[in-house]
Amino acid sequence: MDFNTRVVAPEERDTPDNAVSPPIFQTSAFAFHDVDAVDQLLGGSQGGYSYTRGGNPNFDALARFIAGLEHAEAAVVTASGTGALLAGILTLAPSPVRLLVSREIYGGTVGLSRRLLTPLGYRMEWVDLHDPAAVAAACAGPPAILLAESISNPLGRVAPLDEVIRTAHAASVPVMIDNTFATPFHAEPLAWGADVVVHSLTKFIGGHSDLILGVVAGSRDRMAAARALVASAGLTPDPFATWLALRGARTLAIRMERASANALALATALEVHPAVHRVYYPGLASHPDHAVAQRLLARGSGAIVSVALAGGYDAVQSMVRRLQLVRFVPSLGDVATTLSHPKVASHRELSPDEQEAVGIDGRVVRISVGIEQVADVIDDFYGALGKEAAS
Ligand SMILES: *Cc1c(COP(=O)(O)O)cnc(C)c1O
Repeated sequence: MDFNTRVVAPEERDTPDNAVSPPIFQTSAFAFHDVDAVDQLLGGSQGGYSYTRGGNPNFDALARFIAGLEHAEAAVVTASGTGALLAGILTLAPSPVRLLVSREIYGGTVGLSRRLLTPLGYRMEWVDLHDPAAVAAACAGPPAILLAESISNPLGRVAPLDEVIRTAHAASVPVMIDNTFATPFHAEPLAWGADVVVHSLTKFIGGHSDLILGVVAGSRDRMAAARALVASAGLTPDPFATWLALRGARTLAIRMERASANALALATALEVHPAVHRVYYPGLASHPDHAVAQRLLARGSGAIVSVALAGGYDAVQSMVRRLQLVRFVPSLGDVATTLSHPKVASHRELSPDEQEAVGIDGRVVRISVGIEQVADVIDDFYGALGKEAAS
């Protein structure tokens, strides 16, 4: 079935009393009629649930749904996207290895690596995914895993990940892809050979800025390990958040279709505004990864457009103050268009040198394009940037 149909099709047909919307199992634990029943469940010879930290029907419904979208054998939901990154890394590498981290990556991933994993003995190394020789050189040597994003946060870099993954696998380096920006609507990293895919469900899949949640997806064996890890580490989400995420995800296809079409229109309009120094959107011919994006991404290039303003940080500041419709929100993936400032917010964890190396400076704003009538969004930006170039 087509993606548009699969996101809408009800996951569960046999709900209590045939409820069309699945119930919320907002319970910390489940009751048993005798000791044997508990023993069988915890021993694994009987299916079911005993304690929500270890599992809950709402978690499983969402996990099955995401696994279906990503064509993964299984998935495990976590309390946040960051929890999913941690679960994914520890599943691929339970004891310290080198973490080969794409130069273009979310600042929180760097924070997790530096603050938590480096003190435990993992060694973070930057890798330039656009340089095949550098990827091969990084993968050779002591055991490692490689972390990358299908569309990078915030400048929309799209590396030739199918080739990167082949190179990594030739050196026995497993690969984890953060698919948050692309969502399975635009990209299926497991089809490129990735070992594990993670998402911040907080963003486009949840889609309504009302929850914090993550998911890790991959093979049945790996996800069994991830599930045990999530339960042991207490990375478990809340049942209501998983119910909300599944509710939001039903409209993922239609939201992404509209938002990515809007993103292309906004990027095209901003590219010709004289106050704009540069627009970063992989759907534009001017983006360095346009050809790779055309090859690897389906149905468009996603809903994130980053822009460097010619007037620098001061121009950003005055634009943000003058926008009427678009709000500054240090997140992304809402139905409404929002914007953020990577240097000050999402990529704070990077040193100024590291920010500079990937092109993040005070001039850059990251726009998460929503599903509005795009002319209104373009008008808002043109109004805030000064009327002189209004089309
Ligand atoms: C937000 C984000 C995360 C972290 O997700 P949380 O749900 O905030 O923990 C990870 N990766 C990317 C690309 C993100 O944008």
